[in-house]
Amino acid sequence: MIKEMKWNVDGHRLLLTVNKSSIDISPSICPHGGVTGSPCYHEGINGCAVNYFINVYGLETNHGTVAASETLEVAWSMDGSQWDIDLVEFSMIPVNDPNFADWLSSVAE
Ligand SMILES: [Zn+2]
Repeated sequence: MIKEMKWNVDGHRLLLTVNKSSIDISPSICPHGGVTGSPCYHEGINGCAVNYFINVYGLETNHGTVAASETLEVAWSMDGSQWDIDLVEFSMIPVNDPNFADWLSSVAE
């Protein structure tokens, strides 16, 4: 499943804050600044789609195992409408997820 998607590994991170019984998830700063032309830029929201999906869906779009750590670098993939963020299929996975790490090292040059 992972192999068929185009994953971006470009330094997007999310922050996990443990707050008693719940975990708060928030995006950290977009490495591209969310500017036009960056791979994560989406016309529909005029900004970074990765941050958007983390804000709106939290870990629902996460496909891997999340270890308890303060910050987490994620690989992400986006497909679908360039114009309507609601029609975008978005996935992310921690880059240190064992399955993803295996795949990543197999395609790294
Ligand atoms: Zn971004």
